[in-house]
Amino acid sequence: MKIIGLTGGIGSGKSTAAGFLKELGAQVIDLDKAGHEALKKGGGAYEKVLEVFGAGILDVEGEIDRARLGGIVFKDKEALKLLTKIIHPVIDKFAANKIVESSHKGVRVLVLEAAALLEAAKNWQVDEIWVTVADRKTALNRLKERTGYDEEDVRSRIRSQMTNAERIKQADVVIDNNGTLEELKAKIKVEWEKLRGRMIDS
Ligand code: ATP
Repeated sequence: MKIIGLTGGIGSGKSTAAGFLKELGAQVIDLDKAGHEALKKGGGAYEKVLEVFGAGILDVEGEIDRARLGGIVFKDKEALKLLTKIIHPVIDKFAANKIVESSHKGVRVLVLEAAALLEAAKNWQVDEIWVTVADRKTALNRLKERTGYDEEDVRSRIRSQMTNAERIKQADVVIDNNGTLEELKAKIKVEWEKLRGRMIDS
């Protein structure tokens, strides 16, 4: 089984690329979603996050309000580090279980999709790193079309993340997503075929 770590900046097209990979036969695990689950009551990170960040991050139901938490951590590098330190072990465990499960099921290509993959790839033991890249302006324009868009939130997230150049440095495969959706789909198909070639060779 080949494990691909798929990452990229906010709005760069990670999920869209993951969707195309799924159509081609990959098993896709969304680790950002796993991180969100970890924050829910009983999710593994809830108690610790509450302890560190205080009851001010809770909504009326007593669940962690991710927008409030984001408002704190995407403006403060140290706070983000602290949150990452709490959540990553939970995601690590989830990813490790999924890797074992997929391997037992005979999955050939497993895609782990995560915004902060490069900060954690060593723990998730991926075979290859794939990075989606879109110019900031293009990504922002696309995100504006999406529901729940909050400009200040997006800008502070961008500031807290690695730059495209830093991601590209670590990438095995770079997927330029400045074109149309059809172009992205075609690029993913090409990279998929190349991957199949590498799998036969190894
Ligand atoms: P996030 O960082 O929020 O997780 P992401 O990197 O997963 O985002 P997507 O959600 O895949 O990015 O894409 C962001 C938005 O841009 C989506 O609404 C998606 O449909 C749209 N999009 C992605 N690629 C293209 C493209 N090539 N052409 C037009 N729209 C696109």
